[in-house]
Amino acid sequence: MKLGRVFQGVAILTAMLVALGFASVSTGYHRELVVRLIATTMPTPDLGDQVEESGNAYWFDDYYTVFPIDDDTYAIGETRYHQLNFNYLLLGTSRAILLDSGPGVRDITPVVRSLTSLPVTSVVSHLHYDHTGNFNRLDGGAMIDLPFLRERESGGLLLLEEMEHLGFVEGFAVPSLKITEWWSPGEDVDLGGRRVVVHHTPGHTKSSIILEDPEHAQFFTGDMYYPGELFAFLTGSSLGDYTRSTEAMVARMDEAATLYGAHRMAPSGLPTLERADLVDLVTVLHSVRDGSDTAPDEEGVFPRAIEVNKNMTMLMDIPAGRQWH
Ligand SMILES: [Zn+2]
Repeated sequence: MKLGRVFQGVAILTAMLVALGFASVSTGYHRELVVRLIATTMPTPDLGDQVEESGNAYWFDDYYTVFPIDDDTYAIGETRYHQLNFNYLLLGTSRAILLDSGPGVRDITPVVRSLTSLPVTSVVSHLHYDHTGNFNRLDGGAMIDLPFLRERESGGLLLLEEMEHLGFVEGFAVPSLKITEWWSPGEDVDLGGRRVVVHHTPGHTKSSIILEDPEHAQFFTGDMYYPGELFAFLTGSSLGDYTRSTEAMVARMDEAATLYGAHRMAPSGLPTLERADLVDLVTVLHSVRDGSDTAPDEEGVFPRAIEVNKNMTMLMDIPAGRQWH
């Protein structure tokens, strides 16, 4: 979700939280409440204008932009959509992966087919509606193999839960995703001449993943890391998970790593970060958790905004609602 809408919802939420006497904080229901308030009070913004992109990026049609990263890697931008999404197409010699497929306001298959004739497997960085929209339109679907997801599969379909998907915010129905393969945390997926490692990185959501191409020092980070406001206050978000996942990613990366995120805040170009940004995030998370003197100031009522560095701000629950375990 876009930050402006969240902060518009904050005034309403503040009044309701006061009315409730913060009684819901212990149950976490206040997190659901803010999303439901946004859904019922904030209209979805119209598509924006096409903006000029720099470098070798080009408009595929009047909706999708293609950003070639290297010969076998493309970002597919949805920069007219108000959340400014980026999906990533990773090609091997025998198969391809599409990480995230946008909200589904437009069929993504024509732009994918313009870039590869290989069989393409859908995978999502996490289950929010702005990443699952075209999931079932590709040749197969892969999902992180977590017990709480696997046990819900029936007949090759995974029916998402309302608060896991959040599509009601913009009027999207809860989908059933067609799953053709389950990827274990830490698994190497062979694309033919290209290896991709699947990391389970909870924090933004319980089932968030990051894909790593170790040969090219590429990390495709979904909504865990991108330049802008990171959402750590939603249902399923956990600061403890965010801290552990980020520590693990820092340990996994070297200085050459490039992080490719799933949203950008403004034109133009790709939403990229570096390992040093995650080092800063770990430092700030530790300082907030420990209540140290070096913890940055917090702004806002709900969510609370904490500046990590010039690239990132983290949006958190109020202190009483934070989960560090
Ligand atoms: Zn997103």
